[in-house]
Amino acid sequence: MTFSVETESRLETVDVTERVADAVPDDLASGTCTAFVEHTTAGLVVQENEPRLRGDLESFLREQVPDEGHAHDRIDDNADAHLRATLVGPSAAVPIRDGEPALGTWQSILLVECDGPRTRTVSVTSVPGDGPD
Ligand code: ZN
Repeated sequence: MTFSVETESRLETVDVTERVADAVPDDLASGTCTAFVEHTTAGLVVQENEPRLRGDLESFLREQVPDEGHAHDRIDDNADAHLRATLVGPSAAVPIRDGEPALGTWQSILLVECDGPRTRTVSVTSVPGDGPD
């Protein structure tokens, strides 16, 4: 199944944990869910949803990838967004326990927008299998 996320800034993080959890079938006792963002300038990461840390993550991505000076900018002027999304990665796989993502206490699933504001599509695929106890 898929859901949409409306982002508001060029570079920001949006907590999508509840939306991913809603997409996992309640009757799936154990398995794995994979959330996947269907874009080349956004990513997904499992990390703590703490506002200062989210700001640190945004600063980290800005520091790692300069805004300008990339070849792709001659095409559509957003190479920085592609490269930042590459660092983050497009997906997050999480074990399922009792119909819910088995995240650790401080773990959340964050969508990392690198070229917003935009409407982003996230797909969630759940498969049965051996999961955590
Ligand atoms: Zn581009």
